[in-house]
Amino acid sequence: MSADTNPSPPTVLCLSGHDPSGGAGQLADAQAVTAQQAHPAVAITCNTVQDTVNARRIMALPVADVIDQAKAVLADQPVACIKLGLLANREIGDAVAKLLATHADIPLVVDPVLVASGGSTLAETALRPLLAGKLAARASILTPNTSEALALTGAPTARAAAHDLLATGAQAVLITDGDGDGPTVDNQLHLADGSATAIKVARLPGRFHGSGCTLAAALAARLAHGDSLHLAAQAAIAYTQRCLAAAFSPGKGQAIPNRSA
Ligand code: PLP
Repeated sequence: MSADTNPSPPTVLCLSGHDPSGGAGQLADAQAVTAQQAHPAVAITCNTVQDTVNARRIMALPVADVIDQAKAVLADQPVACIKLGLLANREIGDAVAKLLATHADIPLVVDPVLVASGGSTLAETALRPLLAGKLAARASILTPNTSEALALTGAPTARAAAHDLLATGAQAVLITDGDGDGPTVDNQLHLADGSATAIKVARLPGRFHGSGCTLAAALAARLAHGDSLHLAAQAAIAYTQRCLAAAFSPGKGQAIPNRSA
């Protein structure tokens, strides 16, 4: 078959930061999307200086450059899902929200990245109200971990935070429990109809860099294939768990999910 006749996998457009360690950010997104047999297109929001221990510096791209990258992809390929990762600052967030308003039909996964798994702050505090407001309202699904959900909403519990995010108009909120410490990772999928489903997996030993990116990108790829929110969340969690079970430690810090697992 020639390139003209090979069927194209669905495109997932990721707006992500670049993590040179290969653990998180755009490399994680591209690997996870590819592993789900979808095509990753990536608009870079920022470069970072980081290793497997922690992030040290964030260099946001000029906002026009971020938007031009995304527009080039949107004008050229049918985009089946958009995934937001690290947006770095409010200016970029506002411009992305404006761009999304002109593509209201494309499913949207919002991974509200705030802090690196090593503990460094990645996103400006001014981004929080945007993520918990306009971007949440546009989301097919948000994927905060518990501490991100609490930080975004100021709610006292994860359940209350999910309720607040759904109240914006979001279709679903998946609160991930990777940052918890119980014997199982008790992920909770909250849908706009008020239902909540626990999707539990065993808690694996060790600390991981890029697990949130992996999960959100795989979820976006499943939505790009047309899965329901529920099936996509289940598949993404199962895939991430496989990646974490096969994780490796190439550096001096956290382990990196093996996204080919
Ligand atoms: N995006 C970038 C560019 C990052 O550097 C990080 C974390 O360090 C993240 C996203 C979030 O990573 P995680 O998947 O560990 O939440």
